[in-house]
Amino acid sequence: MRTLNNFIDGQWREPSGTTYLPDINPADTKEVVAESPSSTAAEATLAVEAAERAYPDWRATPAPQRGQLLYRVQRRMEVRRHELAEVLTREEGKTLTESNGEIQRAINVVEFYAGEGRRLLGETIPSELPNNFCYTVREPIGPLALITPWNFPVAIPIWKLAPAIACGNTVVLKPASLTPLSAGLIADIFSECDAPPGLINVIYGRGREVGEALLNHPAIKGVSFTGSNEIGTKLYSTSAVNGIKCQCEMGGKNPIVILDDADLELATSSAVQGAYGSTGQRCTATSRAIVVDSVADHFIEQLEARVNALVVGNGLDPMTDVGPSVDQTQLDTVLNYIGIGQDEGAKLITGGLRLADDAHDCGYFVQPTIFDRVTSNMRIAQEEIFGPVLSVLRVPDAASALVAANAVRYGLAAAIYTQDVSRAFKLVDQLEAGIIHVNSPTVGGEAHIPFGGMKETGVGLREMGREAINFFTELKVVYLDYTGSARKSNLY
Ligand code: NAP
Repeated sequence: MRTLNNFIDGQWREPSGTTYLPDINPADTKEVVAESPSSTAAEATLAVEAAERAYPDWRATPAPQRGQLLYRVQRRMEVRRHELAEVLTREEGKTLTESNGEIQRAINVVEFYAGEGRRLLGETIPSELPNNFCYTVREPIGPLALITPWNFPVAIPIWKLAPAIACGNTVVLKPASLTPLSAGLIADIFSECDAPPGLINVIYGRGREVGEALLNHPAIKGVSFTGSNEIGTKLYSTSAVNGIKCQCEMGGKNPIVILDDADLELATSSAVQGAYGSTGQRCTATSRAIVVDSVADHFIEQLEARVNALVVGNGLDPMTDVGPSVDQTQLDTVLNYIGIGQDEGAKLITGGLRLADDAHDCGYFVQPTIFDRVTSNMRIAQEEIFGPVLSVLRVPDAASALVAANAVRYGLAAAIYTQDVSRAFKLVDQLEAGIIHVNSPTVGGEAHIPFGGMKETGVGLREMGREAINFFTELKVVYLDYTGSARKSNLY
């Protein structure tokens, strides 16, 4: 069990208080994986001041050299990948296979932004003025706050940190209180790679205490947040008042749309992967299957068989398909929604209960659950459950499938299953989602490809890929007049 301290100015600093938050293994609640300090606003201020001191030198470091640090981090992550994956499984609960996938994705992200250090391009633009050279440059914003959730505790901090520092910013990371050790290992790795003191700071503590202190510190020039809509929208309005840049990636209620000509076998396995992978605790999890009537019975039959075959258990066991909910609160939320679904009149096909036999009584395990005959007005069709629960909505045709798919406040990911390319493209045109998959599951993403949602899922600019550079830099325009003598300018 590791006792974590805050990582400030390149050093692990003991907090002023003595209150530590336990980091409990959700698959085995007898195990305390780590503990992290419940820091104060004053300690958050120390972290910001360290980032502020480090900023001028890091800003002045040529971007290709900034990328070199990320290449060292990539290599170090490769060396420590198994340890990272095991910690991730022990503190978050996902299976080791899923954790290894998350670590690989994080490594890919670091590699991609290491290379971006050599490609931090501006453009040259022809000016209306004679003898004028007009160009743009990308400059860093300043010290930034990165506030991250527990469900991807390695990949999400990394996909904010890597572009932020490649672009010349310094950062204070506030990880989720449920998964502090992953962030601790990230800080270890940057430290082992000779990151300058203050470039990356990690502050632990309750969001309300330290998160808000970060956001309201005048030296913080931007915030990149991933988490719930409840918190994200608050942060967005605070950022607007404080006049700082803000991006928020928030909840999802992602549909898989299955048309009558779909390859049902493929669609079913994708629905299982999307809905129950990572215990449904993904922002891109499939939580609604919108199925055309003529194939719905067949789909449900195949789905039920596959879901009943899923093995629920400790993610460290290679036989496990589905791990636990992350904590008691999340488990209660899932069970509460299962009750709501039954009260609303949806048909429970399988699952619905907490698993509490000898093999499961020390963890937050719930049976993978399917509801059929769900309608768009039900809460289980509208609200993010964040657990292994799939709602099936039956619709008469493709047009009503589209209406049902778009009838939610969120717009992160959607999947379409059809073998007709024309129908696929028509749906792609009309679906309100930031990421659309045709004949592949709603989940997943790649380092060099933009990621994020429409509607109430996302505000601010997209993450990942070259798009992330737009958030993590300011754009400066330069007019350079080489006339050599005074002349009248065309002032508009
Ligand atoms: P959350 O409760 O909103 O917490 C996210 C982060 O915000 C945590 O670090 C939290 O700290 C911090 N926080 C809480 N209150 C705060 C405040 N008043 N000021 C500043 N920071 C504060 O979300 P979560 O439960 O960790 O994550 C699950 C949610 O994330 C789901 O809705 C999921 O869809 C969403 N998500 C979205 C994406 C995407 O890309 N769209 C990706 C992954 C997850 P504490 O941990 O200390 O409370």
